[in-house]
Amino acid sequence: MKGFHSVAKEAADAIENIQKSNVGHRRKRGLYILCSSVGAKSRYQQLTRISYCMRRNETTRLTSASPSRPRIMAVGFALYLRKVLGLILLACNSVPMFAGDDSRIQVTADFSEAEAVVAILEKRHGKQAVTAADWQALFATEPYQRLKQREAAMKRTFTDDDLKTFVLSVDLLSQCAALRSTVAAWKQADLKLDAMRILPYLPPESVIGAKIYPVIKPMHNSFVFEADTDPAIFLYVDPSVSRESFANTVAHEMHHIGLSSVDKKYEGDIASLPDPAKAVAEWMGAFGEGEAMLAAAGGPDVDPVATGTLELKENWARGKRDFNHDLEQVNAFFLDALNGKIQGDAIREKASSFFGLQGPWYTVGYGMAVMVEKGYGRKSLIECMRDRRLLLVRYNQLAEESNRKVGPWLALWSPEILKDVETPSQATK
Ligand SMILES: [Zn+2]
Repeated sequence: MKGFHSVAKEAADAIENIQKSNVGHRRKRGLYILCSSVGAKSRYQQLTRISYCMRRNETTRLTSASPSRPRIMAVGFALYLRKVLGLILLACNSVPMFAGDDSRIQVTADFSEAEAVVAILEKRHGKQAVTAADWQALFATEPYQRLKQREAAMKRTFTDDDLKTFVLSVDLLSQCAALRSTVAAWKQADLKLDAMRILPYLPPESVIGAKIYPVIKPMHNSFVFEADTDPAIFLYVDPSVSRESFANTVAHEMHHIGLSSVDKKYEGDIASLPDPAKAVAEWMGAFGEGEAMLAAAGGPDVDPVATGTLELKENWARGKRDFNHDLEQVNAFFLDALNGKIQGDAIREKASSFFGLQGPWYTVGYGMAVMVEKGYGRKSLIECMRDRRLLLVRYNQLAEESNRKVGPWLALWSPEILKDVETPSQATK
C-alpha cells in the first residue's frame, strides 16, 4: 500500500499534468492546493488536504485541500485570515480587487511578476538590452519569491537562472504580445462583481481572503499555496483564457475559500464518528466542487461552463447525461468505504478519481445543489454547505418525490450511508 506522501505526490503530479494539458477544472486553470505534511493536524485535515485535487504533501507546508475544500483551500482559515488580511492590505504592487465593499472579502491581485516578465520580453522584442536591474526587478517580486518557496516545498529546483533561461527563450518571446494583452485583460476583470456574486451562496458568517498571483512561469500549472497561513492563488497567465473565464475561476476558488472558513463546525460535528463513517462524511464535502460551480455561475439557470473550453463543455454535457450513473458510482464508493471493502489510501485514491476533468464531485454535486435550491430555496442549500451530509438527504427527498410522480427517474443515496454518517435529525426539510 502506498504511503500518504506518495499518494499525495501522485495526486499533485496528476493535477499539474492536468493543468499542463490545459484541462482540469472548469476554469481550466484551477487552483490547487498543496498540502501540508501530516503533522499535528487533525485527521480530517490530513485527509482532506489530501486528496482531491490536490497535491499534497511534501514535507513542508504546502497548502491543503480537503474534500470539503476542494482544490483549493486551506485550513486554519482563522489564523490565515488574521495574518493575511493584514498583510494583504499592506502588500505592495497589489491591485485591490474588492476594496472595502464588503468586509467579508479581502482579496488582492499581484501582477508584478507577470508585468516584469512582459517588460523584459518587450525589451527583447525592441532589441533593447535587458539589464541587471530588469532581472532584479523580476526576481524581487513577491509572486516570484513565493513561487520559489513553493517549488522548494515541492522538492523541485527552481533558480533565478532557470527563470532567466525561460524568459530568454525564443518561444516566450513569440508570445510577447499575447501575454501582454492577457495580463492587461485580466487586470480589467471585474473580480469584485464575481466575488460579490458568490456571497449569496455562502453562509453569512463566512469570510474570503487571498492573494491572487497571475504568473508567467515555465510550468503552466495553477495552484494554491500556504492556504493555512498566507493563502496565495497562483494562476498561470494563459493567453487562451478569456477575462471572463479568469474571473469565473477566481470566483469558483473564492467559494472554496469562503466555505472553508466555516468548516470547523462540520469538522467537530463528524469528529466522533467511527473512522469509515468519518471518511465518508469528509468526502461528502467534495461535492463543494458542484456548489462552487453553481456559485460561480451565479444561479441555477446560468450555464456553469459558459466560459469554459469546448472540452469542458462536452465533459459537462456528459456529466449531466450520466448523472444517475455517476451518483451510483459514488454511492458504491461510500458503501465500500463504510463496509471496509476499501480502506486508507484506497479510499483517497478512489475518491480522487471522481475529480477528473470535472467528474462527479462537480457534476453530481452541482445537480444536487441545483435541485435543493430550486426545491427548497437557497437558504436550505446554504444549510447543506454548513453540514455536508444534508445535501444528500435533501436531494434524496426531492428525488424520491420526482420518482413518485412523473418526473425523471433519479438515482438515490443508500439509506444506510445516510444513517452511518449520523445525518442530523433536522436534515429533512
Ligand atoms: Zn474547485
